[in-house]
Amino acid sequence: MAKAYTDSMLRLMEELGKLPGIGAKTAERLAYHLLRAPEADALQLADAIRDLKKNTRNCSVCYNITESDPCAICADPSRDKALICVVEQPKDLIALERTGAYSGVYHVLTGHIAPLEGIEPEQLTIAALVEKIRKGGVRELVMATNPNLDGDATALYIQREIAGLPVKVTRIARGLPTGSSIEHANVAMLSDAITGRHEVR
Ligand SMILES: [Zn+2]
Repeated sequence: MAKAYTDSMLRLMEELGKLPGIGAKTAERLAYHLLRAPEADALQLADAIRDLKKNTRNCSVCYNITESDPCAICADPSRDKALICVVEQPKDLIALERTGAYSGVYHVLTGHIAPLEGIEPEQLTIAALVEKIRKGGVRELVMATNPNLDGDATALYIQREIAGLPVKVTRIARGLPTGSSIEHANVAMLSDAITGRHEVR
């Protein structure tokens, strides 16, 4: 069966098949689409991928994905730098920004603690967050990790790490159903969750 494809087609299908949500059938369809597309169009996709990898990095302050360092949010003088919202992923930051209900800055953990998946606290940006708070000037930390088991455990771990440091810690309100994710919450729900946050210590 595989012999029906050229080596280049096979390679492209293999690469496309690695993308989330792309099964073998879809990979095949996309590969044929690119084969038939004008060369310039197909290469635009290749260029977009290359530019994405070349130009994007993590903000050295908040670890958000950015093309300029610090990122646009950290560089914005109107944002409250003493108010830090802790999120798991850049996608969560984007969802919260969409609400327009938040005027502080962020700290992106780049994941959550999940010992069963082999994700230890050291692999996240928790140490940098603790250091930021230790340096002072942070008034409130808003825990906006996902309202599920891993998200709660991660928030709790951070709270323990910063125990004794002079910072108020709040958790986003439980308007979000437990077990859900920030990324998929609708704007109104998320807006309520961040404005209705409550103190946890
Ligand atoms: Zn930043």
